[in-house]
Amino acid sequence: MAQQHKRVAIVGAGIFGLSLAIALHKKGHAVTVYERNQYHQNQYDPEDKEQVQAASVDLNKIFRASYGKKLHYQRLAMESRDAWIKINQGLDEPLFVESGMLRVQPTDELGALEKETLANMERDGFRDTQFVKSDVEDQRRAAVQGWQKKLLEFEIPESEEHKTFDAVLDSLGGLTRCSAACYHYYRMAAAAGVKFIFGPEEGNFDSFIEQDSTVDATKTKVVGLRTKDGKAHAADVVAVAAGSFSTQLLPCLSYHLESAAGSLVTFKIDPANKALWDKYSPENFPVITWKSAPRTSNGKDTGSIYVFPRTSDGVIKIGYRGVKFTNFQKAPDGVPFCQDGQWSIPLPYEDCRAVPQRAEEAIRTFVSIFLPEFDGVDFDTTKLCWYTDSLDNSFVIDYVPTFAEHSVFVCTGGSGHGAKFMPVLGEHAADIFDNNDNAESHMRAHWRWRDTVPRRNGLEEGPDGPRNIGGGRAAT
Ligand SMILES: Cc1cc2nc3c(=O)[nH]c(=O)nc-3n(C[C@H](O)[C@H](O)[C@H](O)COP(=O)(O)OP(=O)(O)OC[C@H]3O[C@@H](n4cnc5c(N)ncnc54)[C@H](O)[C@@H]3O)c2cc1C
Repeated sequence: MAQQHKRVAIVGAGIFGLSLAIALHKKGHAVTVYERNQYHQNQYDPEDKEQVQAASVDLNKIFRASYGKKLHYQRLAMESRDAWIKINQGLDEPLFVESGMLRVQPTDELGALEKETLANMERDGFRDTQFVKSDVEDQRRAAVQGWQKKLLEFEIPESEEHKTFDAVLDSLGGLTRCSAACYHYYRMAAAAGVKFIFGPEEGNFDSFIEQDSTVDATKTKVVGLRTKDGKAHAADVVAVAAGSFSTQLLPCLSYHLESAAGSLVTFKIDPANKALWDKYSPENFPVITWKSAPRTSNGKDTGSIYVFPRTSDGVIKIGYRGVKFTNFQKAPDGVPFCQDGQWSIPLPYEDCRAVPQRAEEAIRTFVSIFLPEFDGVDFDTTKLCWYTDSLDNSFVIDYVPTFAEHSVFVCTGGSGHGAKFMPVLGEHAADIFDNNDNAESHMRAHWRWRDTVPRRNGLEEGPDGPRNIGGGRAAT
């Protein structure tokens, strides 16, 4: 049956919105993207004066194919990796930097998750891309293939006999230059014919335009959206891709998602300091992730910290995700799901310029072990950046059953690992958009609307949980 082409309004020009826009446009739909930030002017600059709040607006994000038992994400990551390599061709500065990634363990032995990852890599035929520091044969292979200089040794503080952390170097891993990739995708989409409406008034979603459904008398059908400038925009489908703000646009997402903050800090290296400039370059230094503590008995990660090699401007970014901080505030009346009358939403921009003391302390410990030259040095910048966590860490990409006639689609729930999939995410999402349960995408089952799945992934904690820095109980 010939596919019916639709007018699609996408809200949000972050990674999810851009990737979806390009893929839907390729399938023949007429796509308009509404975005409240002026990305066409600031080029997704993370330090722009416009005070952008978006997870995608950031210097860099980790690319990894290591996904423990989650083979479906491992496979999606490999599909995406191939796509990034193609995108890199012809660019002056690559968007995907193949720096490798060193997964440093909490102790001098490999952790359980690491063993699962290695087993899955083996199963899919990628074991030879992984180098275990404590494995003599792997060290030999690393030397032959030129990866040995990134199989770095870090001493366990106060350990007897100067033991070092075990680690696995993943030669498939690296980083994506996130903001640069968004700008590249925006220009590609605009050149192909996707329409963009930017601005705090004209690009800012205000409300859905609804009318009675002729098909389902119990629901309304969305026939467009209204922006803050008061203009009405007709559409056959409105797709919400507003990241950590999505629940505020579409409160029926409140069961599925929670906004929580990761803590980011940067140091700056002066190019005149050649020793540091070279040491921390992507040619010599991998992305490093460290779990300062093993997972808890219920599988929760409480100690994860990571650092990127320096950018071409000399910025070294460190991220702490051991605790993702929630900000519980009173939920508006009528929100279908809340906890003690509250929900977690992003803090205002001006309250996101500092990181909580707990994060700072963890980062300081990390720096003293992994970047000794910066021990005691002031951070250049600090900021909170908001995750859109889903109840099981998988994305939410589906039609919203609250509305009739497939008139609202959602594409969000990145849960701290969506950026790496930018080149392929939209294609899988567009397959779901067009074909629903007949979609070929192997991600269909994982990304569906799932309001009967229990809330886990920290979403069960609520305002009394230890991560809340909002109006409820304050964490330090
Ligand atoms: C701290 C942190 C670290 C991460 N690290 C990694 C990593 O290492 N690797 C990885 O793969 N992924 C990582 N991620 C995840 C990745 O960044 C996200 O999955 C991805 O950026 C989400 O993109 P998005 O488009 O859903 O949301 P966003 O980037 O937040 O974009 C949403 C857009 O919607 C717009 N918007 C909101 N409300 C409105 C409105 N009313 N009207 C119009 N526009 C609106 C916003 O302005 C924004 O531009 C990380 C995320 C965070 C927070």
